[in-house]
Amino acid sequence: MSSGRTSRWRLHVTLGTDRSDREGVILHEVAHLMPGSTNHDKTYYQNLFRLARRIGHDMEILIEREKRYKPRIVGSIKKRRED
Ligand SMILES: [Zn+2]
Repeated sequence: MSSGRTSRWRLHVTLGTDRSDREGVILHEVAHLMPGSTNHDKTYYQNLFRLARRIGHDMEILIEREKRYKPRIVGSIKKRRED
């Protein structure tokens, strides 16, 4: 299992063996470096999902992963997209 954290402009990641899991962690941490995106708020998740779509990451896996972490915010963003 992969894990990561971001502090200011430093990105710390420990990568596991699963490719999608690794990409998800890297995307999660890189999204923290984007403007207005330091906390796990709506702007952060919009940036994360935009970035993930751009590289063709599996969105279902990413959304499920992030939902386990922040179910209310991620759920509200997904619901809006499905309307
Ligand atoms: Zn985070």
